[in-house]
Amino acid sequence: MSAQGSTEGIVVAIDGPSGSGKSSTSKGVAKARDLRYLDTGAMYRALTWWMLDKGVDVHDPAAVAAVVERPEITMGTDPSAPAVAVDGRDVAVEIRGKDVTDNVSAVSAVPEVRDLLVRVQREIIAAARAESAGIVVEGRDITTVVAPDAPVKLYLTASAEARAQRRSKEVRTSDVAGTQADLARRDRLDSNRAHSPLTRTDSATELDTTGLTLDEVVALVVKLVDQARER
Ligand code: C5P
Repeated sequence: MSAQGSTEGIVVAIDGPSGSGKSSTSKGVAKARDLRYLDTGAMYRALTWWMLDKGVDVHDPAAVAAVVERPEITMGTDPSAPAVAVDGRDVAVEIRGKDVTDNVSAVSAVPEVRDLLVRVQREIIAAARAESAGIVVEGRDITTVVAPDAPVKLYLTASAEARAQRRSKEVRTSDVAGTQADLARRDRLDSNRAHSPLTRTDSATELDTTGLTLDEVVALVVKLVDQARER
């Protein structure tokens, strides 16, 4: 028997700003409890990559909305090998590039983009719940919009300095100040957009990861997952 009074798998919803530790934590928890994993940020990035590749003006919301249905985005949900493809092409490396990072907030603010990707995310979650022990889903609006009924909802935070340090390490740059400025810019855009902005709901547990190691954060979240499954 699992949470929510059914035999379906559990949903663990994790939101937070860039560099808060969402991805590493989500993958770690999914591996520890044999759950699937969905990186929703990668979906917004994949769509942005396709638009840039096709020369769509990503700062024109009408132009973005007009083509949103065209690319086929496919997500793999294995936490040990998360995969993202657009029209059959693996774009895992491309979506982490500066071009995509600089433009993804403009694309993700378009309502038609959100409507489509939230629909696809819910389909992936439903399939995972039916086929496995459950899924860890990370993003900006998972606890508020995509899966507000998830039995485990977390909002991860960390100091601006810690987030910039982590992200700089990830993208292998020594320009920590530049990274911090970029994170602040994206936070501002993601938190102030009209549709589904990054916000913390009172029903999500806030976890400040600044002084914690990854193993400590994963252990804390795994405990919450285990407790939710016992309920
Ligand atoms: O998590 P990551 O930094 O890869 O996300 C990239 C961008 O995708 C975010 O800056 C945000 O604009 C968008 N995003 C979103 N909603 C989500 C996940 C990501 O708007 N659920």
